Amino acid sequence: MSILFRQAAFQTSAKELKDLPPEGLAEVAFAGRSNAGKSSALNTLADHKRLAFVSKTPGRTQLINHFTLGEGRALVDLPGYGYAKVPAAVRAPWGRVIGDYLLTRQSLKGLVIVMDIRHPMTDLDYGLMEWFKPTGKPVHVLLTKADKLSHGAAAAALAKVRAELAALDAAHSAQLFSSLKKSGVEDAETVLARWLDIALPAPKPPMTQKAPKQPRARNKPWHLKQ
Ligand code: GDP
Repeated sequence: MSILFRQAAFQTSAKELKDLPPEGLAEVAFAGRSNAGKSSALNTLADHKRLAFVSKTPGRTQLINHFTLGEGRALVDLPGYGYAKVPAAVRAPWGRVIGDYLLTRQSLKGLVIVMDIRHPMTDLDYGLMEWFKPTGKPVHVLLTKADKLSHGAAAAALAKVRAELAALDAAHSAQLFSSLKKSGVEDAETVLARWLDIALPAPKPPMTQKAPKQPRARNKPWHLKQ
């Protein structure tokens, strides 16, 4: 069940860093190649069919879309990269503004990179991680569309990506995700809640583990019963 991003509300689309809301306590950013499944993943995490819709509307696809989670927390949807149809003239500002955002935003605690499990760790993904490296902040990879592979193939892809990430930075992590099956939500929330310093409610104990009933004390006045 997704809970962390349920309160997410669109705040602003920024073309330049000066258009962003002031620094808050903590925010996480989502990036990924166009078509990797980033919007679907955000909608799944927010339990909201159209959260990332705003980022897909014409005119906003190249902007930094900022969503507030309340209490100084935020989530940021970065434009998809590597889309062949985007002319170089549009790609260049992407690099500059997003690059500046990633390097200078103090409240940014970590970067989620959404990758299609069938095409993970492309040169562009590597380039982004290289760019982000000087911040010393962690990257979490969502290998989405995991439903497109068998369990075995998905596990093998995950192991390979984890090994490649470990070679880059020990703090980086990866997981399987599927917006279609709504799987991987809790794993993602665990990482994001840590970055955002939000306490997730403890999971409910299983119903089968009821405490055994204590025998009732008989023949004692109620105020002497334990
Ligand atoms: P974005 O460009 O990264 O925001 O990608 P979208 O979220 O728009 O997804 C691109 C395409 O992949 C769409 O046709 C989605 O329906 C599909 N897609 C996204 N996530 C999944 C998933 O987990 N499983 C499957 N099977 N398809 C997905």
